[in-house]
Amino acid sequence: MNTINFNVPTYTDKTIDFIKDVLESAHTSGDGKYTKLCHEWFKNKLNCKEALLVHSGTAALEVAAILADLQQGDEVIMPSYTFCSTANAFVLQGAVPVFVDIRPDTLNIDEKKIEDAITPKTKAICCVHYAGVACEMDTIMDIAKRHNLLVIEDAAQAFDSYYKGKPLGTIGDMGCFSFHETKNIMSGEGGLFVTNNEKLAERAEIIREKGTNRSKFFRGQVDKYTWVDKGSSYLPSDLIGAYLYSILEISEKIQEKRKAIWNKYNEAFADLEKQGKIRRPIIPDFATNNAHMFYMLFKDLETRTQFISYLKENGIYAPFHYIPLHSAPSGQKFCKTYGSMEITNKVSDTLVRLPLYYDLSEDDLNKVINVVKNFWNK
Ligand SMILES: *Cc1c(COP(=O)(O)O)cnc(C)c1O
Repeated sequence: MNTINFNVPTYTDKTIDFIKDVLESAHTSGDGKYTKLCHEWFKNKLNCKEALLVHSGTAALEVAAILADLQQGDEVIMPSYTFCSTANAFVLQGAVPVFVDIRPDTLNIDEKKIEDAITPKTKAICCVHYAGVACEMDTIMDIAKRHNLLVIEDAAQAFDSYYKGKPLGTIGDMGCFSFHETKNIMSGEGGLFVTNNEKLAERAEIIREKGTNRSKFFRGQVDKYTWVDKGSSYLPSDLIGAYLYSILEISEKIQEKRKAIWNKYNEAFADLEKQGKIRRPIIPDFATNNAHMFYMLFKDLETRTQFISYLKENGIYAPFHYIPLHSAPSGQKFCKTYGSMEITNKVSDTLVRLPLYYDLSEDDLNKVINVVKNFWNK
């Protein structure tokens, strides 16, 4: 029996050509030709002032957390239904993530619950665009403005997705993307930090280069380079830039294919939803769908467990997703929870993700659809 994985990363002939080009050039470290091409590509695509490649979405969040200038004990409001890096980045700066519950429709942070969780120590809101579907940004930006908070968008899953026409990642003060192999656009590991704020952009460049003004030196803006701020090494080798640039060249095709797969799942399972067996993703009018993820919500944990086993028996890997951070050992040690986590807990127990990747064949897609339907007919 052939197995169908949840994810398969992709590459093209150009990936190999570009990587070879880097290897044969005299420049394999960071900020080479392909990294620069990626920077220009993203500034153009996202219409933002600064876009800097880093080596992961985690690293992009760390750059953002350093830029937030947090003091020990400062609080950052975020969802609990997210990847640990969203919280870790702030914990590393001595801050305390404060979790609030998510919306039942988009599974994003419930903007109506944010304001009550604000204390004199709150410095930032970190919102996560789950499955690439936008948070309610107007409300979040309004709360931030009234309470003088920074907004950091964890846009790790949100490449090519929009809120009321604006690219996700560019609405708050800072945005963080991931190019991990499981994301729409991948370079193995990889990430991007973006901002429209010139002051933050200037510091971000320094933080990414070990706290030095090396980039300014290369542009001839200072006559020697030195250690001027805190920082670390967040810039990837140009080999990663080469891989990423080769994928950016086919990004439209990737998006078209992912959306076609997503739509096919969505149509195929409309009846199951009507019969009350599952719930499909909901995309509000203010958001777009970048087809990062096709998930289904079941009525309880037991049904989901049976479903995952049934798919596995049929050679299909369909994983669940986050264990809420508020219930994780480090979440309990380093973070606070504000209010009920009812929806977060329920979603964590009942969500399943289906295989969705660029090279998924028509046959495999049809097989997944049939096996899912058979689970309910057996
Ligand atoms: C993937 C992901 C990250 C981490 O990105 P890496 O590139 O794997 O470090 C952070 N937050 C969210 C929501 C993610 O999906």
